[in-house]
Amino acid sequence: MKIHEYQARELLAGAGIPVPAGAMVETVELAVAEAKRILDSGTPEVVIKGQVHAGGRGKAGFVKLVKSVDDARAAASFMLSNRMISVQTGPEGLDVRKLLVAAATDIAKEFYIAITVDRMRKCNVLIASAEGGVEIEAVAERNPDAILKLPIHPILGLQSYEARDMAFRLGFKGKQVGQAADLMMRLFALFCAKDASMAEINPLVVTPPTAAHPDGRVIALDAKFQFDDNALFRHKELQLLADPAEENAAELRAQEFGLSYIALDGTIGCLVNGAGLAMSTMDIVKLHGGEPANFLDVGGSASEEAVTEAFRIILSDKRVEGILVNIFGGIMQCDRIARAIVTSAKNVGFSVPLVVRLEGTNVVEARRILHDARADIPTMQVATDLTDAAQKICAAVQSRAAVSTAR
Ligand code: ADP
Ligand code: MG
Repeated sequence: MKIHEYQARELLAGAGIPVPAGAMVETVELAVAEAKRILDSGTPEVVIKGQVHAGGRGKAGFVKLVKSVDDARAAASFMLSNRMISVQTGPEGLDVRKLLVAAATDIAKEFYIAITVDRMRKCNVLIASAEGGVEIEAVAERNPDAILKLPIHPILGLQSYEARDMAFRLGFKGKQVGQAADLMMRLFALFCAKDASMAEINPLVVTPPTAAHPDGRVIALDAKFQFDDNALFRHKELQLLADPAEENAAELRAQEFGLSYIALDGTIGCLVNGAGLAMSTMDIVKLHGGEPANFLDVGGSASEEAVTEAFRIILSDKRVEGILVNIFGGIMQCDRIARAIVTSAKNVGFSVPLVVRLEGTNVVEARRILHDARADIPTMQVATDLTDAAQKICAAVQSRAAVSTAR
């Protein structure tokens, strides 16, 4: 699960990490009023930031610094009426429904710090760079040595001497060293306490020296979190932060019906029971030249209604050019799947090729149901085994594509 920046800031503040004050608003008028309040209080510059579950906002024009109420209005209207397309969103972009309005922070230097899981090393890792900011992806590519990594001991955790050492290596000076090290320790504690899989602050900034802070201050200007969905049950406070508008609608509907569904980019919709079988089905589709449109595990005990819903979800994906059903009936009874196919054919209709491979419990009854219904489902083919099924669906989708290019 992901959260918005304005929520991440509250989490950081609660963990004692300095963040600038800001307000979340959902309309242009409220954004303008907030900007006016900040400017009237004597702050010369206001930052307006689109709140979406993706980064790269700065470069996409969804982080704007403004000095007047008119510019604030222009920035807010732009953000709330255009989809944000960044390196992290894909070409279709994301709708922006919320904005963060805050006093701009003076920046002397931008850093990057993050804690995430290093699957190769099987531990958490602290990642940091003195070249933080909107170019961090380019830095990682062009100059990987500028990204420092510190594996964190799974039992001892991040040690304060390690955090101080990292602060020195990043080039923090004077009092900043203590502030930066303290911030890393707090971020690590927060990461563990919330069962996060990723906690990223980019940029972490040092402000220019002032009379009150001659060494500058170390402040988190942007933060992104990802939480382990499997641990959410023990974090009611995090569940409250979920924003359904940011989630894939089909994935949410699937969740309601107890289906494990993940949307992918391909054209072949897959309906499978069991995660392992779903993975191998996707593999074999790819082996035969197709691209899966989704991962879908209907599980062992899904009702006929849930399986029908699964078909509805797959068929509502406009990219789907064909559907492969691969069921190995153990606990799942094949006839339940067959009935769901017949119901879906009646209610939604299979306008695309459908290949069905069923094996296991009640398969004879299932085959009879499908055989009787074949006149109603003209796009259906039956497959004898997994290879046959994958070949048939890939061929059907390819010939459809050939026909549509010929037209
Ligand atoms: P993203 O990571 O999605 O691009 P950021 O919040 O990191 O968005 O903003 C991009 C850049 O905008 C930052 O690197 C920083 O230079 C500037 N910026 C962000 N927030 C502020 C702020 N409160 N005050 C001043 N500049 C900011
Ligand atoms: Mg950022």
